[in-house]
Amino acid sequence: MSKRYKIALIKGDGIGPEIVDEAVKVLDAVASVTDIEFDYNDYLMGGCAVDVFDTPLPQETINGALESDAVLFGAIGGPQYDSLPKDKRPETGLLQMRKELGVFANLRPAIIFDELTAASTLKEEVVKGVNLLVVRELTGGIYFGQPREKLPDRAYNTMVYTVEEIKRIAKVAFEQALNRDKKVTSVDKANVLEVSQLWREVVEDVAKDYPQVHLEHMYVDNAAMQLIRDPKQFDVILTGNIFGDILSDAASMVVGSIGLLPSASVGGKVGLYEPIHGSAPDIAGQGIANPIATIMSASMMLRDLQEHVAADKIEHAVKEVLKEGYRTKDLSSFDAKEVVSTSEMGSLIAEYATK
Ligand code: NAD
Repeated sequence: MSKRYKIALIKGDGIGPEIVDEAVKVLDAVASVTDIEFDYNDYLMGGCAVDVFDTPLPQETINGALESDAVLFGAIGGPQYDSLPKDKRPETGLLQMRKELGVFANLRPAIIFDELTAASTLKEEVVKGVNLLVVRELTGGIYFGQPREKLPDRAYNTMVYTVEEIKRIAKVAFEQALNRDKKVTSVDKANVLEVSQLWREVVEDVAKDYPQVHLEHMYVDNAAMQLIRDPKQFDVILTGNIFGDILSDAASMVVGSIGLLPSASVGGKVGLYEPIHGSAPDIAGQGIANPIATIMSASMMLRDLQEHVAADKIEHAVKEVLKEGYRTKDLSSFDAKEVVSTSEMGSLIAEYATK
């Protein structure tokens, strides 16, 4: 019997609709050769929701997402929304959506495709073979800690983590490591911060349940340096909200193009899958956006739904299409045999995914 999944599509603004449409094309292609089926429902979030509902996150979008098996999201934002008050801004909608879904773990793989090592600003021998995963705590730490205040002569924020918050994110990292190279690097600033000292103790504790996984600790300043010096030493990087925000951006640039990297936000009621890039208003509507990050996000979604055969098909198709030399404009200077549009790239990957 075939399995049916209810997928909430939140296309968003800018290039969002273009890239999500291509991911849907690829999902439909794998559905045609496997025993899975998808029911899609479209919901508005971000600037497009402000235009229609005067709010960046309408209740019907929250309800729709919560009733789905997964949410596939494009991107939000654009210059026309930049001067809106905070409660109307597109990113307020995204932050609230993460909260509503309860997704406390942000997973960002940084994998380099052999054909695109030249796209990295680092030397080929440094980046060839990089395959790391940043597991970032997403709903705690200094971005949310109380008290926080901006006064005329000073301002302060609070970095706070509870044992429970550290435990649950550490578990996600160790579980991920079990299916990878079985190494977790926990990144903190325990030489200076009490909150990091607690982080270390709790991570050590969780590690006892995973004797197969090797755990090491690294200070965040050293981790930033090591990421650039020798990224291949990492398998899973486990870290808190602010350190993860910074390190995951650095890790993505090790790989090169922003148009290739997917992400998953999990641990809550429903998983949210999205490319790491934004809505790219500068290229929206031109048919030149790279849909691969969104297509790879759809593949992460399938893995979390335990549809590994379908996920393998997508990842294999992306590799094959890149190997064949097809490139969207952003990657046209890296061994391109043919430069293709957003929609042509989606069709090529869809075609290879059915083979
Ligand atoms: P961006 O990621 O949208 O764009 C940065 C650069 O990368 C641009 O030159 C863009 O053309 C290019 N780029 C991005 N994605 C691409 C793709 N798939 N293919 C080819 N090129 C691509 O970041 P930005 O310019 O700083 O922000 C633009 C808007 O996106 C802002 O409104 C910002 O708030 C929003 N944003 C949204 C998210 C999100 O929805 N999760 C994340 C970051 C930024």
